[in-house]
Amino acid sequence: MAKPKIGVLALQGDFEAHRDALKRAGAEGVEVRSASDLELIDGLIIPGGESTTMLKLIEEEELLPALKDFGARKPVFGTCAGAILLASEVVNPQQRSLGLMDMSIERNAYGRQIDSRIAPIEIDGEPAEAVFIRAPVISRVGPGGKILASYQGNPVLVEEGRHLAATFHPELSGSERIHKHFVRKVAGERN
Ligand code: GLN
Repeated sequence: MAKPKIGVLALQGDFEAHRDALKRAGAEGVEVRSASDLELIDGLIIPGGESTTMLKLIEEEELLPALKDFGARKPVFGTCAGAILLASEVVNPQQRSLGLMDMSIERNAYGRQIDSRIAPIEIDGEPAEAVFIRAPVISRVGPGGKILASYQGNPVLVEEGRHLAATFHPELSGSERIHKHFVRKVAGERN
């Protein structure tokens, strides 16, 4: 079977690092900038960056309905700003989102002084490294959500059905483990 084709929303943020990580994880990574690009892919990554800016660009490109529609059918993985866009409720400040995952998320929740760090976490009992950059905190996970990893008592990697959200940057950690997990999810949905 052909490699899963996974798009990376390339309006703003660190989409290139995701494209490279997808390649290392055995998928074909393609940049997505328009609604017609979404028709060619099996899954989508919304990268980190600045969620307010990304949302503004999404609205300027009139991509919001197309992204919601895509997420109703296919897997979406949001990292950091991308996780903020996936959440059903965004605070600090409140802002619009795709609402594809039933969870609440608070932007820039670790404060100014300690806003970026590399921290040890555990996924499935195995040690992993999480790169946090002005990270949000997932303050509520809906009943359908599964917490795959936590840090300081807060969920940092959450799965809900076909979707996945990380408050950190797995594309910067040098391990493809989480990308591989998403590639498997996408391949599973495609069958
Ligand atoms: N602080 C950013 C926001 O609120 C997210 C940071 C990131 O994606 N690294 O959108």
